[in-house]
Amino acid sequence: MQKSKLHPRRPKFQLSAIARLELRTRIGGSLAEADPSGDWAAVLMTLQTDVRCLGPKGERTVPLANFIKDAYTTELAHDELVSEVIVRIPAKNSGGAYLAFKRSAPVYPTASAAVQLTMDGDTCRDVAIVLGCVGLTPIKVKEAEPMLRGVQINDKAISAAVESAHAAADPQSDMRGSAEYKRTLVGALVKRAIEIAVRRARGEQVEVSHIYA
Ligand SMILES: Cc1cc2nc3c(=O)[nH]c(=O)nc-3n(C[C@H](O)[C@H](O)[C@H](O)COP(=O)(O)OP(=O)(O)OC[C@H]3O[C@@H](n4cnc5c(N)ncnc54)[C@H](O)[C@@H]3O)c2cc1C
Repeated sequence: MQKSKLHPRRPKFQLSAIARLELRTRIGGSLAEADPSGDWAAVLMTLQTDVRCLGPKGERTVPLANFIKDAYTTELAHDELVSEVIVRIPAKNSGGAYLAFKRSAPVYPTASAAVQLTMDGDTCRDVAIVLGCVGLTPIKVKEAEPMLRGVQINDKAISAAVESAHAAADPQSDMRGSAEYKRTLVGALVKRAIEIAVRRARGEQVEVSHIYA
C-alpha cells in the first residue's frame, strides 16, 4: 500500500547520512510513527513535502508541517494510511545538509539539524532550518529564516541563526544528555549544516556522515 515517491532528480542531500541502510527507504512508516528522534521528518520538513493520507473516505494531501501534531501523533485518522510522500524538487542552486550527533551507529541521535538553502551568488534566496530530537516534534526555526534570507551568509548571519536555534530548541534531559548540552549541541550542528548546505548549493560535492560521540 505504501508508496514513497522521491523525485527522480536527487536533492543535494546525502541520503546515506540518514539512518542505517535497511531503514533508508522506510519513509512513510517513519513519518506515520512521528518519533521525535526520527531522522526523516526533520529532513523532509526543510523541503516542500506533502503526505497523502488514504482511508475509506478517499485520499487527502496534508503538508508535512501540519501532518505531525505531537510526539507519536499525526494528522492520520484511525482508519487512514500514508499512501504516498511527495517531495518537490528544490530550486536551482539549492543545497541541503542533515547532521545527526549519535553515541553509536544503531541508536537514535542526541540531536540533529537539517538545513536547506537556495543561493543567488553569495546571497541566500531561501532557507529552511529544522531541528530534530530537541522537542516533541521536529522544530522549524522560523526566526532564523528572515535573518538569512536576502543576506550574505557570513559568520554574523550564521551566529544569528545559531542563536535562533538555541532559542527554538526545547530539549529534555535524558540518558543522551542534559537539556543544556543538547541545546548547545544542536546550535553547533546548525552552524555546520548551514556551511555544508551553502557549499552544496554552489555545486561542491561535500561528503558528510553522522557525527559520533
Ligand atoms: C534498530 C533500529 C534502528 C533504527 N534507527 C533509526 C535511525 O537511525 N533513524 C531513524 O529515523 N529511525 C530509525 N529507526 C526507526 C525506523 O526509521 C522506523 O522504524 C522506520 O523508518 C519505520 O518505517 P517502517 O516502514 O518500517 O514502519 P514500521 O516500523 O513498520 O511502522 C512504524 C509505525 O508506523 C505505522 N505505519 C507503517 N507504515 C505506515 C503507513 N504507510 N501508514 C500509516 N502507518 C504506518 C506502523 O503501524 C507502526 O505503528 C530504527 C529502528 C530500529 C528498529
